[in-house]
Amino acid sequence: MSLIYLDNAATTHTHPEVIKEMNSILCDFYGNPSSLHSVGRSAKAKLEHSRKKICEYFSVSSQEIIFTSCGTEADNMIIDGAFNHLGIKHFITSPIEHHAVLGPLKNLKRKGYIRLDFLKINEYGLPDFEDLKRLLSTSDEMKMVSLMHVNNELGTIIDLYKVGKLCKSHNALFHSDTVQSVGHFKLNFDKLPVDFAVASAHKFHGPKGIGFIYACKKNKLGSFIYGGEQERGMRAGTEAVHNIVGMERALEIAHKNLKKDVEYLKNLKSYCLKKINEEFPNVIYNGLSDNLFASSHTILSVRIPMSISKAKLLSMHMDLKGVCCSRGSACQSGSDSGSHVMNEILTEEQNQTPSIRLSFSTHNTKQEIDKLVNILREYIDS
Ligand code: PLP
Repeated sequence: MSLIYLDNAATTHTHPEVIKEMNSILCDFYGNPSSLHSVGRSAKAKLEHSRKKICEYFSVSSQEIIFTSCGTEADNMIIDGAFNHLGIKHFITSPIEHHAVLGPLKNLKRKGYIRLDFLKINEYGLPDFEDLKRLLSTSDEMKMVSLMHVNNELGTIIDLYKVGKLCKSHNALFHSDTVQSVGHFKLNFDKLPVDFAVASAHKFHGPKGIGFIYACKKNKLGSFIYGGEQERGMRAGTEAVHNIVGMERALEIAHKNLKKDVEYLKNLKSYCLKKINEEFPNVIYNGLSDNLFASSHTILSVRIPMSISKAKLLSMHMDLKGVCCSRGSACQSGSDSGSHVMNEILTEEQNQTPSIRLSFSTHNTKQEIDKLVNILREYIDS
């Protein structure tokens, strides 16, 4: 049975060129970049070359990129740094952010260190700008707003310019979790009103275990992991040179093919929408997932009405049929409270219909979409 992998928002396959490049680093550039001898220096040169190229892709300078082990660490480091080193005591976020953002914010709030406000979002998962304005105006103290660019469950895109400009007009910092957009959209951080952004290589066909922070140079984050002087003392620990080089190679490939890949994926998503609409006329899409302009070309979040007993076994059935996709929404067991995103934007009744997140890469084909629709049809009719 051939697999149909439609869970690319969870992770992507590693590009063969990336693996080749990483292999060569592991074999020939194994030195510790902090060592002063030739083996160390050549590893350091590879690392800094990758940093320079990454800076070019995002139009930023080398002191604005900090390597981390993943997207979660990057979000944690920004929030920790904003609190510990920039003196931010008031944070504004939305209830549908990734746990990588909600976790550290709730932790600081639980300890009584910060004020944390959740702005209102509408049924599409978009921020209520009037509410954001209100929250930004509540006091004169310096604030940070954390709002993700592309929602990982819905695919909904927020307007970084609009949020960023509003933050600037209130002298607030703006952190955007860009994990689902780096490598899939062109982002020039020098032109965007964003203070902090993040990336995770395994979301764009790079290796797991590596990501980075973009931190606009006027905002010095300070140390997050203490030890050596790596990453200018902000994140100590011997650098994973093979991962950094692999991430850079994945970004190079992603940016080189961006226009063509976006076109391919928009076409594939639109085909998927057409097939689902034809086969299941009572289908509902979550957020703005079916809008090709207001949501990412990589994500489609869909609810297909079916009986409760069918809904309960849907994930298992899809897996048995070789379809890898992700479920959010209705509880599948007593201990599963479902997706916090779906719980927020859907009513309890709407949440009874199972949500399926299909997330695409250029490896997916229209034939796979046909198979997926047939598998769903057979299951619902069985
Ligand atoms: N932020 C978003 C929006 C994500 O989708 C993810 C991963 O799914 C993360 C952060 C965490 O990234 P990582 O898996 O690299 O820790």
